[in-house]
Amino acid sequence: MHVKSVNLETVCGITSKLPENEKPEIAFAGKSNVGKSSLINGLMNRKSYARTSSQPGKTQTINFYNINDLLYFVDLPGYGYAKVSEELKAKWGKMIEKYLKTSKQLKLVFLLIDIRHEPSANDKIMYDWIVHQGYEPVIIATKLDKINRSQKDKQLKLIRSGLGAKSDTRILPFSALSKQGLEEIWACMEEALGF
Ligand code: GDP
Repeated sequence: MHVKSVNLETVCGITSKLPENEKPEIAFAGKSNVGKSSLINGLMNRKSYARTSSQPGKTQTINFYNINDLLYFVDLPGYGYAKVSEELKAKWGKMIEKYLKTSKQLKLVFLLIDIRHEPSANDKIMYDWIVHQGYEPVIIATKLDKINRSQKDKQLKLIRSGLGAKSDTRILPFSALSKQGLEEIWACMEEALGF
């Protein structure tokens, strides 16, 4: 898909009411620093529209990006951010859960996992939540350029087993640097949206 217009339409904090959008939504979940903003910027073909972790003052919100007036990218708050209190982490967990539970337009959930590491306990919790809400997450293994080509299959297996994902769960490797995998991610979204 050619992205012609992008608009950060709604930003939700902990106490905000979630929007009742009429267009399809695609959500992106992942722990802080996994490369979520870089992926979203890559998909939107924008350099720094979605805020990256390296930017100070990045606040934890659910951001709804209107794409081409056709669909929404829903950027869920990165979990596992060390500098946040346990109380706030729990509140954010509830907010993400509430979104997954109540969105009427959610068509696809991407869960991002760093290709270099075994999934963490939080990644596993997130995966299980998504499945529990009735969605079949598609995993994006980020930072593909950071490993040798020979390690790829082994790392993908580690992600699958670490999450306890089914053998037919899709895992798409992606690099924000080379943009490798971008076409496959778009194809996956278009299939979910019926485009
Ligand atoms: P977020 O917290 O999940 O939104 O993560 P960011 O997109 O801000 O990325 C965190 C850090 O990882 C930044 O320094 C990015 O430049 C870097 N990064 C993200 N994706 C990639 C990638 O595919 N390859 C490499 N080499 N670095 C990446």
